[in-house]
Amino acid sequence: MNKVLIDWFISVKRDFPWRENISPYKVWVSEVMLQQTKASVVIPYFEKWMELFPTIKDLANAPLDQVIKAWEGLGYYTRAKNLHIGAKKIISEYRGQFPSIGEEIEKIPGIGPYTTGAILSFAFQKKAVAIDGNVQRVISRLYCIENLIDKEKKQIEKHVLTFLPEKKAYVVMEALIELGATICQKKPKCSICPLKNNCLAFKNQIAEKLPIKKKREKVISLKRALFIIEHKGFLLVQKVVEKKIMAGLYEFPYLPYAEKVDIEKLVYEKFNLLAALQKCYDEITHHFTKYRSTLYPYYLKVLEKKSIDGFQWIQREDLKNLPFSSGHRKVLQGYNEDITP
Ligand code: SF4
Repeated sequence: MNKVLIDWFISVKRDFPWRENISPYKVWVSEVMLQQTKASVVIPYFEKWMELFPTIKDLANAPLDQVIKAWEGLGYYTRAKNLHIGAKKIISEYRGQFPSIGEEIEKIPGIGPYTTGAILSFAFQKKAVAIDGNVQRVISRLYCIENLIDKEKKQIEKHVLTFLPEKKAYVVMEALIELGATICQKKPKCSICPLKNNCLAFKNQIAEKLPIKKKREKVISLKRALFIIEHKGFLLVQKVVEKKIMAGLYEFPYLPYAEKVDIEKLVYEKFNLLAALQKCYDEITHHFTKYRSTLYPYYLKVLEKKSIDGFQWIQREDLKNLPFSSGHRKVLQGYNEDITP
């Protein structure tokens, strides 16, 4: 099976910037970016990241705000913070050299078993398993695993290990991931699959039913009234405090949304600001973790730049350099386009 898979992989392998001049740092950054995000979306982020922080040392020395700004739009910002902390750890504890032993790699914040396996395999070319959702899907189908996939992790690992040859195991590992990403997708393209003659799920005609997964968490819907409050080119924003979902990002003030509310009265009651409503913008919906948030933006002007606990007044032109959560960034973009003559 290996040879067929390798031949197929060599003939179709996609070009990605993290596959050029491969290094543990590149694999680390790309794998963290690729969690929950498609490769086509990751490419520009990865290229920009490598321009800004070409080495682990550059990343470690960068201000956290700049790191989060480079991550803006990818979501799950803890991952960016962990890359930053991890880079500092590699500089201080490993003299800037990425560790090449699994137990050491796993001590770096944010690196779990999959990323460890990927770094060992792709960057250090060791025989190591890296099991992501793609590999789980391929293996569960090849061996027709009909139990809940989360309970079969050990079994899947064993199957992958039997797949990996002693020499060039990294090629087979990457080929399995590529097969899952491009052929053995949720809706599998079995007719063009190089492994179809060895696939039990295909033989039993149940490929699309596998793997068996736990039911997804319910999406929670949020509705928020968001306030763009301006005083002579300065806008009121807050930096989300640590331990909150959007920690480190900037946001406009907001409150739970309610229909038919006097917005000026609400802003006065909640922020003690005498504001004049200028405009209501179209609502914006965005998703983060298990939430679907709908934002209803209101643009208001105030006569004075009163200081408010937890908030800062920042000049409009400077806001573009700050990292914003994705929904609030869309609101800022809409507002900027609207006021630009
Ligand atoms: Fe996946 Fe179909 Fe290939 Fe089996 S034959 S590995 S189900 S694409």
